[in-house]
Amino acid sequence: MDTVNLELLCSLYVVDCKIDRLQWNALSLMRHHVYKWKSHNWFDLNPIFFWGSRFLKHPISRKKDFSKSYGGSLVCSYNVQKNQNLQLNDARVIFSVAPAMGHNKESHPESHFRVPSILSALETMELTSKFRGSEIIELQNFKPASVDDIVSVHARAYVSGLEKAMNQASQLGIIHIEGSGPTYATPTTFQESLVAAGAGIALVDSVVAASKSSLDPPMGFALIRPPGHHAIPKGPMGFCVFGNVAIAARYAQRVHGLKRVFIIDFDVHHGNGTNDAFYDDPDIFFLSTHQDGSYPGTGKFDEVGHGDGEGKTLNLPLPGGSGDIAMRTVFDEVIVPSAQRFKPDIILVSAGYDGHVLDPLASLQLTTGTYYMLASNIKQLAKDVCGGRCVFFLEGGYNLKSLSYSVADSFRAFLGEPSMASEFDDPAILYEEPSAKVKQAIQRIKHIHSL
Ligand SMILES: [Zn+2]
Repeated sequence: MDTVNLELLCSLYVVDCKIDRLQWNALSLMRHHVYKWKSHNWFDLNPIFFWGSRFLKHPISRKKDFSKSYGGSLVCSYNVQKNQNLQLNDARVIFSVAPAMGHNKESHPESHFRVPSILSALETMELTSKFRGSEIIELQNFKPASVDDIVSVHARAYVSGLEKAMNQASQLGIIHIEGSGPTYATPTTFQESLVAAGAGIALVDSVVAASKSSLDPPMGFALIRPPGHHAIPKGPMGFCVFGNVAIAARYAQRVHGLKRVFIIDFDVHHGNGTNDAFYDDPDIFFLSTHQDGSYPGTGKFDEVGHGDGEGKTLNLPLPGGSGDIAMRTVFDEVIVPSAQRFKPDIILVSAGYDGHVLDPLASLQLTTGTYYMLASNIKQLAKDVCGGRCVFFLEGGYNLKSLSYSVADSFRAFLGEPSMASEFDDPAILYEEPSAKVKQAIQRIKHIHSL
């Protein structure tokens, strides 16, 4: 363990604030799409341009608000405050916010504009408590995850190594963690990553509490970063620092006695970190759909778990170009029967929006409507199999516009309101899905898992 720690500390080195070409080379399969992003400006890093007047009026004060509200005042308990507890019974959606405004690198796609962009969309589309009263609640005053929470998934040497590295980051500016994909750290990365994990844990608390008095508890959505599903037990990887979903799964087991956890990961990339954390665990079912051949190259059909966990990991690589029809079929024929057979106590979702057709880092053809469908169907699935206990965790999604619209439409799905995807999705940019290959992939995974 100490070796890992030393290796980590020894491998830190300074990079400047400009984008490092070598980092992109490390993600060679992404390169083409990064080029697309750079060439065509498919997303704009400044949410002000997307979400209009609210940011235009107070762009600076809004940014200050983030550091004030989310950076240093998270000192209460995991339990929601009493007044929020009373509101839980009426809520349809509870969300928590951890934007990690200090964890940022210029021109990096996993930017600190992502969460503000989503919040701005929610406000513009009147999907906040300001417009909806207690129907939609933003969780306030949650506590950062403790080191003990983090080490339920990660090696203690990694956690302490990262904490120590913050001193270096303070002295040297941004640091890059070698061998982790292009994962960087700034002086606030450690603390803000604890806050992100804590934001997910707090939603588990809230949803579980609400489920004790309702068969239809609110859906939880952790609007957090850095993302988590690539982070492996021994270290960070692929923009991810701590495995937020994995940490919440262990927390749900340990603190709430929810023994069986079903994790759905619909990010376009394989959730290799979550996969590894639970590969031999029979009580945590990990189901990942991802684009075949995308970063990090893991998640093949035959990666099904090991030992007692054999059969409790399901990896479904989908061919490039797979879209809405493919995902609907996957949901009905793979996700539903897997969950029904597993009989979970809670469903956690690694909700990545980088499978959107407009996303610069991959080439699936999911649409805003697809994400609405997934949110709606997963909510129903949770009601059917685990008393409605379900929390979404933000993972990828790098086109700020499609990310924000898709999260907003997921909120509508949670509320049981009609989708507004047709106002955003442009069918003219879609091409024919590789239906024969998709069918083949689905048949293969159903055969392997006897579905
Ligand atoms: Zn991703």
